Amino acid sequence: MPDLPLTGGCLCGGVRFEVTEPLLSAGYCHCTRCQRRTGTGAAASARVAPGSLRIVQGEELVRAYQPTDGFAKEFCGFCGSALWSRHPDDPEVIGVRLGAFDSDPGIRPAYHQYVAYAAAWEPIPDDGLPRFPEGRTA
Ligand SMILES: [Zn+2]
Ligand SMILES: [Zn+2]
Repeated sequence: MPDLPLTGGCLCGGVRFEVTEPLLSAGYCHCTRCQRRTGTGAAASARVAPGSLRIVQGEELVRAYQPTDGFAKEFCGFCGSALWSRHPDDPEVIGVRLGAFDSDPGIRPAYHQYVAYAAAWEPIPDDGLPRFPEGRTA
């Protein structure tokens, strides 16, 4: 396990955060929204323990895109870096983007979800992880 707190931030360095408890779960999302949002084929995120995410710098830079349904996408309004998603009804349900961490967050993605929408140009890796056509059900 890495030392706690885990630390991370956005590309411009304006937003800095820490996670004070071990991450709960992680996975790859291949949904169309994640493709649009990141410009990549899939996005890796990890669920944090409730109350364990703290913004230590640049809270005023954090913007949110709230779709009409589903999780809000929070990002740095200056550099555009993806930071985390947040449940619209329970703000403590948060999925931090793995790429936002400074170093090894100690967890590994354990599933692929929304593979029915996976990008045609990027084959899903043959990594033995379970695949869910829609959202993860287990
Ligand atoms: Zn930034
Ligand atoms: Zn997604």
